[in-house]
Amino acid sequence: MNVYIEERVWDHPRTTRLCSFFPKANIIPIKHYKNIFDTYQPNPGHPTWIIAYADGEIIQEAPTWYGHSSQWFFFKTSLNCLYDCAYCYLKGAFRNDFPVHFVNYDDIQDVISKKNAVLTEHGSQTPIWWYASDWSDTIGFDQFLWWTESFFPFFQTQETMMVELRTKAPSIQHLLTVSSIPCNVEIAYSLNPQVLIDRYEKGTASLHQRISNCKQLMNAWYKVGLRLMPLLPVPGYEEIYKEFMAYVAQEFSWYELFSVFFGGLLYTHEDYKRMLRKVWDVDVLHRLSRDADGMWREDRVVRERLADLVQHYFPYCQICMDEID
Ligand code: SF4
Repeated sequence: MNVYIEERVWDHPRTTRLCSFFPKANIIPIKHYKNIFDTYQPNPGHPTWIIAYADGEIIQEAPTWYGHSSQWFFFKTSLNCLYDCAYCYLKGAFRNDFPVHFVNYDDIQDVISKKNAVLTEHGSQTPIWWYASDWSDTIGFDQFLWWTESFFPFFQTQETMMVELRTKAPSIQHLLTVSSIPCNVEIAYSLNPQVLIDRYEKGTASLHQRISNCKQLMNAWYKVGLRLMPLLPVPGYEEIYKEFMAYVAQEFSWYELFSVFFGGLLYTHEDYKRMLRKVWDVDVLHRLSRDADGMWREDRVVRERLADLVQHYFPYCQICMDEID
């Protein structure tokens, strides 16, 4: 394993802790993570991680109709993922798939807190939603980063903030052992039929495990949501998803769930082009077309059929970034 470490976080306690998991790793000092991360790299054949200092754009406004509220932001503490979903838009967004971990959590929390305070001062009447998992599966990395240990106490100090952590992680051990669960955090599990998890979501939890994790989290008093996404346009999708929705719907009562969203594949034009250059053989990418807003999506007829199906089993479900209803 190679671990690149930016010089300015060389002595950071979180760097030391992270490296302790990999005592045999080849440690390589670097000036700036972008010198590695922003280059096209052939697959080195072994894991390669980067430890860095976040000082650029830490937060970003989320797109319209992304989620719960009218004010919503992404924030980043890691880039890239422990898992390898074939359709993951990060393949298009980044030049290589080396995970980057920003270890200066205090600075990141300071940026979030200041932004939240400004929005609250300006009279925001609705909670401001913060999404931690747009650039990585944060829960997936928690066993190495102890992210929850630092961020959960911080969230508890932010009264007008709500946070979504979206995941496909097999292990939720850290979530179940935290000393105090923030009431403003929702853990949102992405679900797909097992046959599609096997085909497209390498390294992630099985459907059975995801459902079991949701139930354990609910029992521990977490707010838990489902993300029926991305719904994939595979041959026979109607039958596959019908069976899946019926199965998931019988596993949960609507009042147990904090929220349920659904949506299909969605890429900007630039990301879509880069994805195809990298993963040409991912069949579902070739079943998309460019919509009037310039985004690449499943055909409208597919989206409408899937929406009908979802709404039959989950009438309270909300749609993510699509105007069909
Ligand atoms: S779990 Fe999410 S972030 Fe990770 S590879 Fe899959 S889609 Fe991408």
